Amino acid sequence: MTEKTNLLNLDREALAVFFTRHGEKRFRADQISQWIHQFGVVDFDKMTNIGKSLRGWLREHAEVAFPEMICNALSKDGTRKWLFRLHDGNVIETVFIPTSSRGTLCISSQVGCILDCTFCATAQQGFNRNLTTAEIVAQLWMANYFLSGFVRSDRAISNVVMMGMGEPLYNYRNVLPALRLFMDDFAYGLSSRRVTLSTAGVVPHILKLADDCDVNLAVSLHAPNDELRNKLVPLNRRFPINELLAACKKYTDSGSRREVTMEYVMLEGMNDQLQHAQKLIKILRGLPAKINLIPFNTFKDTSYRCSNNHTIHRFRDILQASGRVVTIREARGQDIDAACGQLAGKIQNRLTRSAMRAIPMDKIQVAAS
Ligand code: SAH
Repeated sequence: MTEKTNLLNLDREALAVFFTRHGEKRFRADQISQWIHQFGVVDFDKMTNIGKSLRGWLREHAEVAFPEMICNALSKDGTRKWLFRLHDGNVIETVFIPTSSRGTLCISSQVGCILDCTFCATAQQGFNRNLTTAEIVAQLWMANYFLSGFVRSDRAISNVVMMGMGEPLYNYRNVLPALRLFMDDFAYGLSSRRVTLSTAGVVPHILKLADDCDVNLAVSLHAPNDELRNKLVPLNRRFPINELLAACKKYTDSGSRREVTMEYVMLEGMNDQLQHAQKLIKILRGLPAKINLIPFNTFKDTSYRCSNNHTIHRFRDILQASGRVVTIREARGQDIDAACGQLAGKIQNRLTRSAMRAIPMDKIQVAAS
């Protein structure tokens, strides 16, 4: 018996190929996609516009398989965090952040993270593997299911951000079909303005993304010079700031995109001084970018501290005076460890940092064909 295909792994084009190989019409992909992603129906026998014999074939050859939800934590500010156990025992985290005007789902892309940003709890956990497309898409499906039971008039999730555990651009091959499903009118139908991918700066894949998919790009800049950024975001040694900003410029020049968001974590005494703000203004000149200041969220065994409120506001004011749009990210879900950089999950057989360094990056950054 051949292994069943998990349909959550397939974007609509791949689903169409799946059906045409079986001699079916392409529009079957549209129908199945709507059942699964829009109506939340995963039992083939309940898909009433699919004929009996095709349903039988699907039962034999396909499945819609999910991870298991093992924890559902609710913060006093309304933020929710789910822990999902994957088939191999690894545990990932997904966070839902409601505000008065939107509901944002923060989705993970890797078990742990391949990067080692020194101020991030996920990095301290190490890395095990990339998530499959199905495991990425399942986070949105399950959140929809738990929040509203797929009642369309009551859509709780209006925005998706790839800002959970992991570096999405080092899992490009699996992330891209997931992004396409998020924006597909026969699946989740989110507008491209409402889907954001955050990266620590994998330059070649920023350029690739510009060609492949029209999503908002957020970049974890965090420092205005290479010396400091090398320390905070060691990936900078591979892709230094000038290359990163050039890639961002290309991103904003192509398609219908207008600007990128620069994320900047506020670390006391490290990157929050007047000179840093001035340098930041200088290096961003000519780039359509807004700046999102993120107060540092603490976690166990970190020596970093968050800048105080006065410093954060002064930093913002200086940037704003130069004409930039600057926002300060509100910390949400801290009491359940759901805030930026606090996601840890549980990682099986994590690779040590030295073992990770031995992996050639091009083996991980599986490029989309
Ligand atoms: N790997 C991707 C996405 C994951 S993190 C990236 O680097 O962009 C999402 C954002 O939270 C990033 O900007 C990240 O740098 C930031 N972050 C990580 N740890 C943090 C912490 N302890 N406090 C505040 N923000 C943090």
